[in-house]
Amino acid sequence: KTRTGAAGLDASRLKVSVTQSPKLIPSPETLKFGQTMTDHMLIASYDPEHGWSDPEIKPYGPLCLDPASSCFQYSTNIFEGMKAYVGPNGEVRLFRPDLNMARMRRSADRVALPPFDTDALLTLIQRLVALESRWIPNIQGYSLYLRPTVIGTRPSLGVTASDNALLYVICSPAGPYFKAGSAHQISLLANGEVVRSWPGGTGGYKLALNYAPTLKPQQLAELQGYNQVLWLLDDKITEAGAMNFFVVIKQDENNWNVITPPLDGTILPGVTRDSCISLSAAHPSRTILPHLPETLHLHTHERTLTMSDLRTWHEEGRLLEAFTVGTAVVVTGVGRIGFEGKDIVLPDHASGRGPIARALYERIVAIQEGKAEWEGWSVV
Ligand code: PMP
Repeated sequence: KTRTGAAGLDASRLKVSVTQSPKLIPSPETLKFGQTMTDHMLIASYDPEHGWSDPEIKPYGPLCLDPASSCFQYSTNIFEGMKAYVGPNGEVRLFRPDLNMARMRRSADRVALPPFDTDALLTLIQRLVALESRWIPNIQGYSLYLRPTVIGTRPSLGVTASDNALLYVICSPAGPYFKAGSAHQISLLANGEVVRSWPGGTGGYKLALNYAPTLKPQQLAELQGYNQVLWLLDDKITEAGAMNFFVVIKQDENNWNVITPPLDGTILPGVTRDSCISLSAAHPSRTILPHLPETLHLHTHERTLTMSDLRTWHEEGRLLEAFTVGTAVVVTGVGRIGFEGKDIVLPDHASGRGPIARALYERIVAIQEGKAEWEGWSVV
């Protein structure tokens, strides 16, 4: 019970109803990101009088909502993206789920959705993942993508906080973003005309309303032959697509700078971003980047990055790598960045990733799949 007497989210009150008609699991090669849903979903509802309902895991299916619901009218929607992995010994794991839960709590608060106990939610997610574990392909690079969501369901047109809500979690089996062995570097189009985020805005939260305005610029970038938009705020680089952005700049042979923009409110605090910063900051005292010589010092910085910086470093031959990071792609190399009618072309790397991006990618995947241990990040 909360202070008002309304119930908090209580994992011990979970009711499970298992489907009578389990789906056929598609063969992993045919999976397209986010298109196949598993058999079950987790759901709980909130109203101010009773608080959170008893959570339920039940067969996946449509929701029935009042057309006046706050989520349709005022975008009171927040979500998370996280993955469950199976390691070589068959154990199912989550990667740093505490960070997703903390971010989800902040997002809900930002759009005045009712709070919930994130420890309880994590326990419930673990129950759901255990029930759906047959859906996780036991193949390297494959996982179960989890989409925890909260929507405002207040059925009224008044522009006010939604005091009714629905929390649900759906799951979708996912393959590697790029096929194994394919040497793929993505291209980015730096767009200074439209902005994704701004000081005092909501870019630092995972709100659905941040994404709709990105869809048209993304279509236009694709029409011009680029994979994703590089989001700018004036000259400052913020993020790329729905991923965080890093560069590697050479000081001299043995000193390289690994740089990503700081969390100034315009950047989503990515779980992968945080992991890349920790891993790169640990080298070489804790050698986590096996392909890199111990004589190489990485200097990791969260600092403002501008397009002018990028152009200068490129002209000086010091821009060694650019890469994007996020749950879906893990770490992906950038091959070229279009800006003001010209391309900044990055060094070509045979594996699709430069040495730093590759080392971070391999180490993060190994931790996620339980093959390497790091600070308890992988939770069985
Ligand atoms: N930026 C944005 C805008 C995103 O939507 C995401 C995906 N959640 C990321 C960055 C990467 O965050 P994470 O590493 O937590 O997936």
